[in-house]
Amino acid sequence: MFLKHRIGLVILLVVGSLWTLARSVDRQAQGMFTEDRASMAVLPQPHYEPKPEDPPWLPVLVQFHGHLGPWVVLGFRLGEAARKAVDAAGYFDVEVYCLGPFEKPPAACFLDGVQLATGATWGKRNIAWELAEIPAVKLTHLPTGRKAVVTVRREVVDLIVKTANQSAPQSGRPHGAQPVDKKLDDLARQIARIKPEELFTLELATP
Ligand SMILES: [Zn+2]
Repeated sequence: MFLKHRIGLVILLVVGSLWTLARSVDRQAQGMFTEDRASMAVLPQPHYEPKPEDPPWLPVLVQFHGHLGPWVVLGFRLGEAARKAVDAAGYFDVEVYCLGPFEKPPAACFLDGVQLATGATWGKRNIAWELAEIPAVKLTHLPTGRKAVVTVRREVVDLIVKTANQSAPQSGRPHGAQPVDKKLDDLARQIARIKPEELFTLELATP
């Protein structure tokens, strides 16, 4: 009887500590953008209204870039696909080359998405870009020499350009201006969730 009680107590303690651990991990995951908002106030406050269905990386991307837009999300998705395709850890084991019409925002916002997704940054000098019509990410995994080329589907670019033209017919509206453009926000969220095969093509090369 006594033993039974002890086993019950041990199970209770284990379940209790697991629950506490799960809660604290969960809180850490959300904390950056919810409960700990006050301690994050040292950072600039992005233009962003989170939605429960947003993927967990989206608030991080918006914190880095400053607003939600289709181009920055597109860059993230392509960069993420390229990094995963060659099994790179990111940051230091990659060299990234971006192609696209990136002379100025909003298209150039793509480059911020790629930096966050690959960890290759202008500060580390392991990312560069070159003018091209169709956006693409070329990523090399330095330890193995494996290369991934991820190219966006033309219809996705056409959709972004068309939506932007419809949404902001008044020229001279500054990039990232408030109020948030709902159509472009919706498109950004659509690009965040769209299936890889509908968003880009992927080529792999092994040396
Ligand atoms: Zn932007």
